[in-house]
Amino acid sequence: MTKQQNQTADYDLTILVPVYNEEDNMENLASRLAAYLPRAAMRSCVLFINDGSSDGSGERIRTACAGNDAFFFIELSCNTGLSSALKAGMDQVCSPYLAYIDADLQTAPEELDLLTPHLAEYELVTGVRANRKDTGFKKFQSRFANGFRRMMIKDGARDTGCPLKVMHTGIARSLPFFKGMHRFFPALIQLEGGRVKQVDVSHFPRVAGVSKFNLWNRLLSPFVDCLAVRWMQKRHIAYKVASDNLRKD
Ligand code: UDP
Ligand code: MG
Repeated sequence: MTKQQNQTADYDLTILVPVYNEEDNMENLASRLAAYLPRAAMRSCVLFINDGSSDGSGERIRTACAGNDAFFFIELSCNTGLSSALKAGMDQVCSPYLAYIDADLQTAPEELDLLTPHLAEYELVTGVRANRKDTGFKKFQSRFANGFRRMMIKDGARDTGCPLKVMHTGIARSLPFFKGMHRFFPALIQLEGGRVKQVDVSHFPRVAGVSKFNLWNRLLSPFVDCLAVRWMQKRHIAYKVASDNLRKD
């Protein structure tokens, strides 16, 4: 898909926020983001991606966007999952950098300022939830999944599921996309020759709405995806053109 110019081109950073049935988080989310933007270290805007919500999220997103010139949205025709929502957002970003944060505010938008200073040296800067505020069972699933993935694909990433990340738009858009790919950004960026930095960030409990993931899509699907990413690593082609005569001097 060719990149079409849109209003995100007026900013340095576009913050992608995937939203699926988060109506009770929207008001708080919009006011936190609105308060952050004028103080952000980079000139930033927000792009909400309504991933086919069936509650009042769509309406609340439109209200939030009507009240802030730096808020934008796209609405998907039906629910297709977090990776797909992120991909749909990335396809629209025209700023040189993009960020990702979840709608439930389990990470803090203000802490994007801990990540963005590293963008000069790293193509991906990813948060690591230092002190997770999830249930014991969810933390166990996450630790297990992270350990297994590190062993299989050796990406060195401590917490790929952390919903606070910033990336160079160009490399992010060149990644292979598939359902579940949001757990493999470090490995996929490394595959494209990108450098990855990990930074500790705060984590908060979900105060409204419910988690959209269960044991199956947190553990079993990612297990199969690890095999696919291993295959990509083994079969990856990286060529360098030594010379050409394609351009007239
Ligand atoms: N989400 C989405 N589409 C989906 C499932 C989730 O856009 O099909 C969004 C959701 O609204 C949230 C983010 O992805 O902003 C992460 O979801 P959740 O908080 O449920 O994941 P968890 O923190 O429990 O891993
Ligand atoms: Mg969450």
